[in-house]
Amino acid sequence: RFSTAVATETLIAPNVKVDHTQLLIDGKFVDAASGKTFPTLDPRTGEVIAHVAEGDKEDINRAVAAARKAFDEGPWPKMTAYERSCIMFRMADIIEKNITELATLETWDNGKLYAQAAEIELPMIVRIIRYYAGWADKIHGLTVPADGPYHVQTLHEPIGVAGQIIPWNFPLLMFAWKIGPALATGNTVVLKTAEQTPLSAIFAAKLFLEAGLPPGVLNVISGYGPTAGAALARHMDVDKLAFTGSTSTGKMILEMASKSNLKPVTLELGGKSPFIICEDADIDHAVEQAHFALFFNQGQCCCAGSRTFVHESVYDEFVEKAKARALKRVIGDPFKAGVEQGPQIDSEQYEKILKYIKSGVESGATLETGGGKCGIKGYYIQPTVFSNVQDDMLIAKEEIFGPVQSILKFKDINEVIKRANNSHYGLAAGVFTRSIDTANTLSRALKAGTVWVNCFDVFDAAIPFGGYKMSGQGREKGIYSLSNYLQVKAVVTALKNPAW
Ligand code: NAD
Repeated sequence: RFSTAVATETLIAPNVKVDHTQLLIDGKFVDAASGKTFPTLDPRTGEVIAHVAEGDKEDINRAVAAARKAFDEGPWPKMTAYERSCIMFRMADIIEKNITELATLETWDNGKLYAQAAEIELPMIVRIIRYYAGWADKIHGLTVPADGPYHVQTLHEPIGVAGQIIPWNFPLLMFAWKIGPALATGNTVVLKTAEQTPLSAIFAAKLFLEAGLPPGVLNVISGYGPTAGAALARHMDVDKLAFTGSTSTGKMILEMASKSNLKPVTLELGGKSPFIICEDADIDHAVEQAHFALFFNQGQCCCAGSRTFVHESVYDEFVEKAKARALKRVIGDPFKAGVEQGPQIDSEQYEKILKYIKSGVESGATLETGGGKCGIKGYYIQPTVFSNVQDDMLIAKEEIFGPVQSILKFKDINEVIKRANNSHYGLAAGVFTRSIDTANTLSRALKAGTVWVNCFDVFDAAIPFGGYKMSGQGREKGIYSLSNYLQVKAVVTALKNPAW
């Protein structure tokens, strides 16, 4: 049954020519050493958009050598910090001038809403690059008051060659989160894009060269995880690794880093974030925010509010309203104005989500709405709402990464704290209440890297993001990300005349 609202507005057809499909190594666009390519697909239809160079171990080796040369011989870390900052500001400016083309590629390759890409994500990318451009010339060490006749100072130095591996759900945004702090601190980069979404980063990298980024400072490799990704994680000449993706791959990355050269690793992984609606919450606001927290980006968010805990006194009202909101969700071509939900990324995720929906029904949760495929081609899934979900059901424990809302009931605050924390994940949490005491209690008790109170998915270049437990290690964004890319050197100098 097709119960969801369908968009009818005019289609904004992709009118961008895909002419950047190669690897970026040492400032040049080149084919893979093997000559191989792989297809990247349009999630609206499953049809091929373009064939893209398939980078492998040899290409990673070439890219790491270029990044090493740009680091050791310069120019990047040898430039003044102000010069690096100016280049990064120009990188942000050039992205801002090309938002239409970049957002088109992003929607075409990923299936996300064009309006979301153009009006939310691309401006955030510009903001992130400007934020870190601003940091480049403000990084410095300390003088340390040590015991004894010594002058002691710390130098904050770039680590070297940073390897970075990103996922498909926010291809350009993850690109910016990764390269911003790495470049601002004077490192050089080899970044591997996700195999599902290689197009936008290649085009952005071309723009960065035009903005004056010197050859070898940023190298971009498209290719698969077990080949190109693993070669980067295992590389003996990569000095630091940053990864965003699934928890299972994150574990492998950590192992590869430890078995090669013990490169430090930061990980941004999965989640099963609680979204808690207390009895005194503004219910209409909470319904809308809970809907947004789960369905945003087709539910393909690591921090999705995917366990909606509702107080028993407002449970029935909440479920009715959440169902009505999901039924109103407009599904359709992500290029169309007015659409709220596009297709899932690929057939693998699509089938996985449908399996989770089946398991929800089989385990006894109440299917309030949705539950099926949508349309005749592409990877569209109906906005789905389950009520009467129990903690031990798979849909309440595992990351679905799709448009499936699970609503659970709770009686009191201590109980919900225990249940919300009873997860291997700890990425984010939402709290909806009018009481400052309840907000304070919950935000201190929840084991999560971010707690949003009476709001959700508020991202800002300055706000750190990352996970507790198996949701990751380290923080990205804000001041916290800088230390991921810096070595601290202590310089201790004996004083000839300690009296002065
Ligand atoms: P994934 O882990 O399979 O892929 C992520 C990246 O890792 C891709 O570039 C992929 O090619 C690469 N990769 C895969 N296997 C590899 C290997 N053996 N060695 C090296 N690299 C490898 O994840 P996915 O399924 O593509 O992405 C969705 C997942 O990412 C979700 O679980 C989601 O929660 C998580 N995610 C987390 C965050 C965060 O900030 N915490 C952000 C986005 C996505």
